Amino acid sequence: MMWVLAAVLLLQACSRPVVTQELRFVGHTMGGSWSVIAHSPYEPVDPKMLSESLGELLGTLDHRLSNWVDDSEVSRFNRATPSTWVPVSADTVAVVQAAMDVSARSGGAFDVTLGPLVDTWGFGPGGRRASAPPDRMVSGAGGLAGMTRLQVRQSPPALMKSVRGLGLDLGGIAKGYAVDRVVALLRQMGFTGYLVEIGGEVRAVGERPGGGHWRVALESPPDSGAAPVIRLRDQAVATSGTYRNFFESDGQRYSHIIDPWHKYPVTHTLAAASVMAETAMLADAWATAMMVRGPEYARDLALEQQLAVFLQYRNAADTGWDTWASPAWEALVPPPTPGATGDP
Ligand code: AMP
Ligand code: MG
Repeated sequence: MMWVLAAVLLLQACSRPVVTQELRFVGHTMGGSWSVIAHSPYEPVDPKMLSESLGELLGTLDHRLSNWVDDSEVSRFNRATPSTWVPVSADTVAVVQAAMDVSARSGGAFDVTLGPLVDTWGFGPGGRRASAPPDRMVSGAGGLAGMTRLQVRQSPPALMKSVRGLGLDLGGIAKGYAVDRVVALLRQMGFTGYLVEIGGEVRAVGERPGGGHWRVALESPPDSGAAPVIRLRDQAVATSGTYRNFFESDGQRYSHIIDPWHKYPVTHTLAAASVMAETAMLADAWATAMMVRGPEYARDLALEQQLAVFLQYRNAADTGWDTWASPAWEALVPPPTPGATGDP
């Protein structure tokens, strides 16, 4: 369900009116909320029509990419028999192909074949857990995973698995892809400035209403103080965090980020990883990959892959928070200079 919050039309009195239209929409998709702010100095767009187009697009993507939707393409693929091409949409192929690239470039940290394991740990559609699953369940579900067991075909678009039970979970990348598809829709409709956010993954295009960069508060661990605010223009930023989704049992915290080597939720001190990239899909996938790797390896990976990365992790004494920004991040987000007033 979605609501049009505001539609502002500023008409200048002249023969051919100059129109500045600002639209805001919010709704729910992929298990979380989404929001769009868009403005255009050109022909006005019917807010109701745009609202319907956005809802339709996000609904379609959910029915393609979500393993929480029983008859989605991904759910059908997860149930399919091995060694048979399963026809899917170009959207699903694009996301799986990008997931394979990030998997290879992250040394296997990003792994979308962890579906059964994510579910075993209580973070999938199978339902929550109150305590850690028994080891035999972990090794059973973990044994089904493996990116090399997955094949993608572009034309006609299809997926194939080589083992029975292999299951996709695109939760670490699909929201970012959906952001990019919304951006493409708004561009097509003639908007010149817009901010699109789905489940915390954000992409900003052009300027904010009134001019200047968009300002986005980075997601941060709940007790880490004021959230850093960054200025964004023609960039995407995604944040992955262990605090986002977890359960506690016997004094141990289990998060939804799964280490594909140990088959367990990660246990390091990194609490949040933000990544900036040109597309929200890549930012989303890399943010999850950074969270899998933990603070030390994530730094190495960010430097090796020349990624714009910002990490928030517990300090060595476990008394507070430390942060680290890669050179590529600092180039995009210069630290505030004393006396600077920021954007016009
Ligand atoms: P995000 O919030 O984008 O970091 O995505 C987290 C989600 O990604 C989890 O809820 C799982 O569905 C999925 N996931 C967990 N571990 C991994 C992993 N190692 N590689 C890829 N996806 C993962
Ligand atoms: Mg992600």
